[in-house]
Amino acid sequence: MEIVKLFPGTLLELKKPHPCGNHEFRVVRVGSICRVVCVGCGRDMDMDRVKLERAIRRIEQPEAPHTNP
Ligand SMILES: [Zn+2]
Repeated sequence: MEIVKLFPGTLLELKKPHPCGNHEFRVVRVGSICRVVCVGCGRDMDMDRVKLERAIRRIEQPEAPHTNP
């Protein structure tokens, strides 16, 4: 079973689109209930983590920050 790694800032593509028609959501809070923000219209919503993981089609991890001096 694949482990889903969710972090604040992670961009998700979900199987079901938001009512605005957008499929991409950004994670803003992770817990047993996760909060995601619709990239298209900016609305946020809380989702049960298990349901959220099942709804994910694709995960885009945020780019690693440039930490080199
Ligand atoms: Zn939306």
